Amino acid sequence: MTSTPKTAKTVLISGASIAGPALALWLHRYGFVPTVVERAPELRTGGYKVDIRGTAIEVCRRMGVLDEVRANSTDMRGGSYVDGTGRTIGELPADIFGGRVEEDDEIMRGELARILYDRTREDVEYVFGDSITALAEDADGVTVTFESGTVRRFDLVVGADGLHSNTRRLAFGPEERFKRHLGAYISIFTAPNHLGLDRWETYHALPGKLVCVYSSAGETDAKNLFVFSSPEELAPHHRDTAAQKRALTDAFAGDGWEIPRLLGHAAEAEDFYLDSMSLVEMDRWSTGRVVLLGDAAHCASPASGQGTGLALTGAYVLAGELARAGGDHTVAFARYEQHMRPGVERNQRMAEGFVKEMTVDRKWKIALRMFMVRTLPKTPWKNLIAKKIRDEIQACANAVPLADHTAPATNAAARPTVTA
Ligand SMILES: Cc1cc2nc3c(=O)[nH]c(=O)nc-3n(C[C@H](O)[C@H](O)[C@H](O)COP(=O)(O)OP(=O)(O)OC[C@H]3O[C@@H](n4cnc5c(N)ncnc54)[C@H](O)[C@@H]3O)c2cc1C
Repeated sequence: MTSTPKTAKTVLISGASIAGPALALWLHRYGFVPTVVERAPELRTGGYKVDIRGTAIEVCRRMGVLDEVRANSTDMRGGSYVDGTGRTIGELPADIFGGRVEEDDEIMRGELARILYDRTREDVEYVFGDSITALAEDADGVTVTFESGTVRRFDLVVGADGLHSNTRRLAFGPEERFKRHLGAYISIFTAPNHLGLDRWETYHALPGKLVCVYSSAGETDAKNLFVFSSPEELAPHHRDTAAQKRALTDAFAGDGWEIPRLLGHAAEAEDFYLDSMSLVEMDRWSTGRVVLLGDAAHCASPASGQGTGLALTGAYVLAGELARAGGDHTVAFARYEQHMRPGVERNQRMAEGFVKEMTVDRKWKIALRMFMVRTLPKTPWKNLIAKKIRDEIQACANAVPLADHTAPATNAAARPTVTA
């Protein structure tokens, strides 16, 4: 079946990180007219490394960005665990450590956002420093009011605005209804690379806590990632940075290794991030002409390591279904959700397990893990264990099948004939 929208449908996308620009790229290719609004004053280029695996690799290939993604790879070599004195307990190569297969890749989130933005900026209208404040839907479209005071009409609205989605709040209700805290917090910030790491991650595990310092290709500084268990949600709001820094310092007070020095850097860090590891679970991802995409619809938490892949895949599927349905959103939104949901749920279940792994609470469990880390590389069954980890991660990375919504396209300027 080949179809194109009868009139070019206008689509407002809230959020310019991964899901938003990826959707804009596909919609433009199919002949829709996307506009992206981003609350930040400019493209947010910072961040942490994110995995591109399984289905997401093929989506990048079809977007025509895979070579650029690979050219910006973090190129990690492996990682080690250290004890409280900094002594290495054991080292593991990247394939065992990250459950990777050869074609998997890793890139800094900000780099991927920049690649997608650069591919779309000439064809797509981007509005930075603004945000939706009201959505009023009628039979023909949605009247959108922005913080800046602007009022505009769009045929469809897509919320690709992350875990704390503004679009979700406006169209579906308060965040508390859909967000489920998984019992842990994650923090990340940049600091000088004191440990002299070169494409290497160094871990230190404590009861209920995990610290990881890493430096990836082309980075002079190091990223410092802290995870700590907290059965209850903490009081600080996700945008109250001063309170969040205090929460991190309290959680790691009195701990050894490099932690006191790193907490000193946290206090100064301009890119400091702390948030609850949470899932977003919703009965449906669309209402009327509004639909959610990526973390806004189904955040699987950083523990899944698949949020970026799901955002890229979801953008491809949503745009493909809209094109296939000739712009009929009622058909397209239902098909998009039906296609994505089983794979999303599988990844969310994996994340629940990984959060527990990251915050092992007993000293003897940590000692057992360190024993494994020390002995595994020397055992004959190391490949079997590596395969078991890899198989589970790869199954999740491939959990959303890629329907052939479109013939592979490599030219971002190609116009919209859709084959489904
Ligand atoms: C510390 C950490 C580590 C992670 N590690 C991995 C990993 O290894 N692998 C992996 O696949 N994923 C990882 N993730 C998850 C991954 O970053 C997300 O799943 C992915 O970025 C989701 O993309 P998104 O575009 O849906 O949302 P986001 O990347 O959250 O982007 C949302 C965008 O919306 C904008 N926005 C917010 N509010 C508004 C508003 N009111 N109006 C307009 N714009 C707004 C934001 O500024 C942002 O640009 C990690 C996340 C964190 C926090």
